[in-house]
Amino acid sequence: ISKLAVLTSGGDAPGMNPCIRSIVRTAIYNGLEVVGIRRGYQGLIEDDMFPMGTRSVSNILNLGGTILKTARCLPFRTDEGQEIAYQNLKKRGIDALVVIGGDGTFTGALRFSKSYPDVAVMGVPGTIDNDLYGSTYTLGFDTATNTVIEAIDKIRDTADAHDRLFFIEVMGRDSGAIALRAGISCGAEAILLPEKETAIDDLIENLKSGQSKKKSSSIVIVAEGDKHGGAYDIAKLVEKQVKNYDIKVTILGHLQRGGSPSAFDRVLGSRLGFAAVNALIAGKTQMMVGLEANYIKITSLEEALTQHEFKLEEDLMKMAEILSI
Ligand code: ATP
Repeated sequence: ISKLAVLTSGGDAPGMNPCIRSIVRTAIYNGLEVVGIRRGYQGLIEDDMFPMGTRSVSNILNLGGTILKTARCLPFRTDEGQEIAYQNLKKRGIDALVVIGGDGTFTGALRFSKSYPDVAVMGVPGTIDNDLYGSTYTLGFDTATNTVIEAIDKIRDTADAHDRLFFIEVMGRDSGAIALRAGISCGAEAILLPEKETAIDDLIENLKSGQSKKKSSSIVIVAEGDKHGGAYDIAKLVEKQVKNYDIKVTILGHLQRGGSPSAFDRVLGSRLGFAAVNALIAGKTQMMVGLEANYIKITSLEEALTQHEFKLEEDLMKMAEILSI
């Protein structure tokens, strides 16, 4: 390969910038030219690209979001859109593409690569949801969880002062990864996840038992994809049966995506970016780089996408229940 392009796509995640920096500098170190593509596949189709040098990624390690910007792009789902994207890459002499994003991004990249195999493609898992096969951790998950913890700690202060019961909704449409880690870290009385249906009666029992043990506050963390609906819906179901608590609901929302990447995400972004470029130089394509047991692991996009499934970490759930008695 001689000229590499990089884009970020789907939901933004803290750690994307350290990863972009690593990709740009590793590529330049190895004598490649680098092109940045703005707004994911949208910029690829609109030919919104610019050359990147080593200094173009100075002082971005500490920035949340993505300097390349990101977007969801409908035209890339069509054959015509993919053909335009290919022509744009070809006319610039780009023969390798790194995509940082989630499973939608990888689906688009794999399809593109099957139609146009002369452009080598490498995926980097970037999503706060931590729901990709092939990497124990995805970029942004650690920072997002830390942001959630910081917010819940503050809520706990006021919950405790007023004997309040808080339902806190965190991100995770299909994945309870953030909810579970945040629940363990903040001592939540209950954690509701998309992967596991919790009976409302059991939740009420649990909260009543907490009251009888003189707990002065209760925190229930609800992943947004929980089957009962959001935190407001669950609060309504519980409200009628749990007395003496002042019930409040907080939806943390988009603040969970922002903020300076944690040390973990900066190192992860740097490692995955470095590994992605090196894998492309080694001739690999249609793959993703991930981290498993603290080592870089390369998985085919095909496998990553077909193995995609959400696993409930039963051991962590059990531990969280025991530790909140
Ligand atoms: P996150 O998990 O953070 O939402 P994601 O990568 O899964 O990230 P999506 O919006 O699902 O985010 O996908 C990003 C982009 O990938 C889409 O906007 C679209 O351009 C492209 N894409 C997704 N699915 C396909 C597909 N089947 N064919 C072509 N392109 C696709």
